[in-house]
Amino acid sequence: MIIKTMNLVKKIEPKFSKPESSFTFGSFDENENEQNHCFDGVDENPQPIHHKWKNFMSFKPDIPETPLYKSKPMISKHYNKDSDVKIGNTFDNQEALDLTVRLKALEDGYKFLSQNITPDRYERKCYHLKQCAWSIRARRWGDTDKFRITGMNNVHTCPKTQTYPNHRNANKKVIAHILNPKLKDNRRVLKGKDIEQDILSQYKTSISYQQAWRGKEYGLEQIRGSPYESFEMLPYYLHNLERKNKGTITRIKADKEGVFELLFIALGASIRTFVNHLRPLLIIDAAHLKGQYKGTNLVAVGMDGNNQIVPIAFGICKGETGLCWSWWMSVLKECIGDNPNLLFISDRHAAIALAVRNEFPLAFHAVCCRHLMMNLALKNKKTKGLYWKICKAYTAEEFRSNMDILQTVQSDAYHKLMEAGPQRWSRAHCPLIRFNYMTSNSVESVNACSVLNIKLPITMLTETYCKMLQKWYFERREVAANIEAWKIPTKTY
Ligand SMILES: [Zn+2]
Repeated sequence: MIIKTMNLVKKIEPKFSKPESSFTFGSFDENENEQNHCFDGVDENPQPIHHKWKNFMSFKPDIPETPLYKSKPMISKHYNKDSDVKIGNTFDNQEALDLTVRLKALEDGYKFLSQNITPDRYERKCYHLKQCAWSIRARRWGDTDKFRITGMNNVHTCPKTQTYPNHRNANKKVIAHILNPKLKDNRRVLKGKDIEQDILSQYKTSISYQQAWRGKEYGLEQIRGSPYESFEMLPYYLHNLERKNKGTITRIKADKEGVFELLFIALGASIRTFVNHLRPLLIIDAAHLKGQYKGTNLVAVGMDGNNQIVPIAFGICKGETGLCWSWWMSVLKECIGDNPNLLFISDRHAAIALAVRNEFPLAFHAVCCRHLMMNLALKNKKTKGLYWKICKAYTAEEFRSNMDILQTVQSDAYHKLMEAGPQRWSRAHCPLIRFNYMTSNSVESVNACSVLNIKLPITMLTETYCKMLQKWYFERREVAANIEAWKIPTKTY
C-alpha cells in the first residue's frame, strides 16, 4: 500500500531561536587544559572559549561546496635535518621554521630554549646554555612571511638530553607532523601508549602520554577540523543540503542556552522512496558515538523490493532518552506521516516504545526477535531453534503447539514471551504484515557501515552519512539504467 502523505511534507522554518552560547554538547571545559607543557615558542593557537552564535540561520550564506574540511597541509613535509636546517635556507613562515627546528632537535636528541622570539626574529639556544654554544638565528625576509636562517652553530658540546624523559621541544605540532600519515587512515585506532612507543623507537627519545594525546588530537583537528567548529558549521551544512537536495528535511534542536541537543536529517530522495515505493515498514535503532562530545546516532531504515536496505532518516542526540526519540520521531512524522499500516521494528528500549506511541499512534510497534531472545536466557540450541520456530510461525495453530512445547521445556521463557505480548514478536499474531522482517539487523548493518566514523566531528559524520546514501542511490540508478534484465523480452508464440 502506498502511503499518500506527501502533502504533509512542507518546508517549515526552524522553530528555535538564536542560541546564546556554545552550540556544542555541554560545556567547552574539555579543551581548557590542552596547553602543552613543553610549549615555549610560537605555538599559540588558543581555542575560542565562548563562541556566540550570531544571527542563527537568518542569513543564507554561500558556503564552500563539500568537502567542508580540506586537510590543512602539513608544514615541512619533506623535512631533512641536514639539508633544511642550514644558513641561508628560507622557510614559508616562522611556524614552518619552528617545526623544522623542533623536528631536528628530536632527531638529534638535544633540547633547546627559546630566546629571542618576535614577529621578525627567531632564535634558539641549547638547553645547556652555559656549557654548549649550539644556536640558531633567523630573520623575517623583507616584507614577506618568509624566514631565513642567518646564523647557526650546529655543534653540541653538551650531554645528550635523550636520557631525560618527555622531550620538552616535542610539542603537539611536532607529534602531529610525525603521526600525520597514520592519522589520515580512518581505520586505524592510535592509542597514546602506541604513539609513545613509536616515538621512542623512531627517535630514541621519550614523550609523555599527554604529549602523545595532544599531538594526536591536534593532528586530527588539522585533518578533520575541530569537533567544536564542526558544531558551528552544522547549520550551514544543513542549509546547503536542503538547498541542493529537493524535499530534504533537516532540523536542529537547541536548548534554551543554545546548546545543541538534537539533529534530524531525511534526504528528499529517501522520503520520496519511502512514501512512494517502499512497504510501510521502518526499522529503527540507536548507536553510541565516540569522540570528544560522544552522543547517540539514531537511524531509521526501510527495505526495498529486493530486500536491500534504504536508509530513510538519520539523527544525532545527546542520549537515548524518551524526549530525544520523541522529538526525532515527531520530525520523522512530518516527513512520512502516520499510517495504520505502518510497522516499526526496534529493540525493546522504553524510549523508542514511548516515542512511537506518542508520535505514531496509528502505527504498530513490533520488537526485534533477536533482542527479545537475548532477554530470555534460553538454555540450549534446541530451545533457541524452537523459539525461532514460534516467532516465524505463520498460523496460530503452529504458534500454539510450539508454545506448548516451550512451556514444558522452559516455562520462565514462556512467561516472559507472553508478558511481552505475542502480537509484538510473533508473525502469526502481528496485526500488520511483518514482511519477513523479524529482527532489527538491517539497521545495525547501516550502523556497522559507519563504525569507522563514530569518532568524526558532527558535521563530518553527517556528511559521511549523506555521501554514503548519495553513492548508493547513484550506483543503483546506474545499474537500473544499464541492466539488460530490465528490458523484458517480448515473447513470441
Ligand atoms: Zn647542546
